[in-house]
Amino acid sequence: MKCKVCRGPAVIDLARHNANFCPEHFLRYCRQQVERTVAELEMINPGERVLLAVSGGKDSLAAWDLLTDLGHQVDGLYVGLGIGDYSDESGRYARAFARDRGLHLVEVDLRADHGFDVPTAAAVTRRVPCSACGLSKRHLFDRAALEGGYDAVATGHNLDDEAAVLYGNVLRWQTAYLGRQQPVLPAGNGFPRKIKPLIRLAERETAAWCVLRGIDYQVEECPMAAGNKHLGYKEALNELERRSPGSKHAFYFGFLDRAVHRFTDGADADAGSGDPIDLDRPAGGTGPVPGHCERCGAPAESELCAFCRLTDRVAGADPVPVPAPRRRS
Ligand code: SF4
Ligand code: ZN
Ligand code: ZN
Repeated sequence: MKCKVCRGPAVIDLARHNANFCPEHFLRYCRQQVERTVAELEMINPGERVLLAVSGGKDSLAAWDLLTDLGHQVDGLYVGLGIGDYSDESGRYARAFARDRGLHLVEVDLRADHGFDVPTAAAVTRRVPCSACGLSKRHLFDRAALEGGYDAVATGHNLDDEAAVLYGNVLRWQTAYLGRQQPVLPAGNGFPRKIKPLIRLAERETAAWCVLRGIDYQVEECPMAAGNKHLGYKEALNELERRSPGSKHAFYFGFLDRAVHRFTDGADADAGSGDPIDLDRPAGGTGPVPGHCERCGAPAESELCAFCRLTDRVAGADPVPVPAPRRRS
């Protein structure tokens, strides 16, 4: 297997590009993909400050590394979700990455700062953990970005994530979600701009980036993810991709090029009824939000925002045990 660029020994094959790359040219390919995405979609303007949601996993750490490597000013935000050893370990990876590179990591801890954790919230609300988790993360990212004066919130969603979310939204024709499934959501309605700079990189590629750059990351799967529909959608798309390389890219970028605009105007009010996966509901500056939360000032559709209502509901509940982390398959 030879590198497409230099004919030296290749370490990775990218079937959808019909190309193999050596370490040097694979890293260059990744930088070019992210640089192109940021520039074409005007994600970050010169001099802007970005707050990146850092989970301690490969995608967010690769995003932090890539964006700073490209010269952008990026701080990280780690939210401690209280998911037992999994959260403790994820936090250690995020802190070590920031410390070793002299980067600034902002930390929020759900239990210490807001009195609850994700497993307890899931038990009290009797909904899947990803529902309370996604809601909390979105709220805390938005708040930290606005309080810190950041111009945009970035997430490490990759091509596999976006294709899987799209697949789930199309399966159920979640038209409001489809209208908001965009790599850039402009600021507005009290929300900061949301950007996804890794949409041109597949999951395998962000993992390879981390390995080649010597980045240690959380390899365990969240123990609360069991039964998560998103993982099933990913598996289905992986099978399609195996049979027909380039399918995920064609599906997702075809949607952005030719279909998303059909769902952006007059998006209907079905948001909130669907798949409770945090990835598919990026709150952003589209769609009407009537008012602000009386307690925290966040955009809200009633007196209190969804996060403050959740906090009230879970307050005082006894913490529930957390399953052990799961090794990724
Ligand atoms: Fe949160 Fe669900 Fe992701 Fe676990 S899998 S971190 S519970 S959104
Ligand atoms: Zn090469
Ligand atoms: Zn609130």
